[in-house]
Amino acid sequence: MSMSEGKPIHCLSFDVEEHFQVSAFWSEARRQRWDQYESRVERNTQLLVELLDRHGIKATFFILGWIAERHPELVKSLSAQGHEVASHGYGHELVTAQSPERFRQDVRAAKRILEDLTGSPVVGYRAPSFSITSKTAWALSILVEEGYTYDSSIYDRFRRTDTERRPACGFEIGTPAGRIWEVPPSTLQMLGLQIPVAGGGYFRLFPYAASKSFLRRLEREGAKLVMYLHPWEFDPQQPRMNGSWLSQFRHYLNLHKTEDRLSQLLQDFHFGSIAQVMRPLWLLEHKTMASEGLECRS
Ligand SMILES: [Zn+2]
Repeated sequence: MSMSEGKPIHCLSFDVEEHFQVSAFWSEARRQRWDQYESRVERNTQLLVELLDRHGIKATFFILGWIAERHPELVKSLSAQGHEVASHGYGHELVTAQSPERFRQDVRAAKRILEDLTGSPVVGYRAPSFSITSKTAWALSILVEEGYTYDSSIYDRFRRTDTERRPACGFEIGTPAGRIWEVPPSTLQMLGLQIPVAGGGYFRLFPYAASKSFLRRLEREGAKLVMYLHPWEFDPQQPRMNGSWLSQFRHYLNLHKTEDRLSQLLQDFHFGSIAQVMRPLWLLEHKTMASEGLECRS
């Protein structure tokens, strides 16, 4: 187990997109107007980075190619400060809405733009709204062919718990093009279901004490936590978008509490970027790893 001052190190990640790009508010008409909305992503990400700096923490930033083209200095500065720059694809279209060829162009474009800016290889990918599912499993082969090492897009929230427990911190998936590491956001097995406890709306929904106790339980089970949030979740002043009641509830719930909650989380748990935390485990690949997944306990 990776240790720092005796504490296990977990994975902290952010999906870098504008508040008007989220899938819940997606429409083709709105997509056409993206360039007309007020941009808030750079300011929000910078505030977030200042918070991470106060705790001395590096994280993974899954950045849209569309954002990187418009905010190149933001990408360069994240990389220069030691954060991991990873890919959130180019245009934030759900994988389930894309053809394989369109998906390939999307993940290729994002990787090229980010690598040109940082001068470093981009090895990680996360799909918009975790939209790699059993129906879009072909996407994993394409990620391998396009040079990605890991994916963080498969989120089995509210699925029934398998009798065979899933590996707690990541596993390898074989595809026709080769193998890829899957690093899913953490879920807690409770009441026969996999309960999402590791980020986004769920982190804003549960009182912090509840989140903390869920995460401690996962930690005791030997899991690497994989947490995710978005820069817009730290921006209670963002302009309101029209959408369904449920979308609005989920998007705007407790935005004013996210910053304090993350700050508490960073005091209670120790975090790093996905590459920083997982690379030592990837390097062990064929030595000590069980075939069904990574063994997280030391
Ligand atoms: Zn996203």
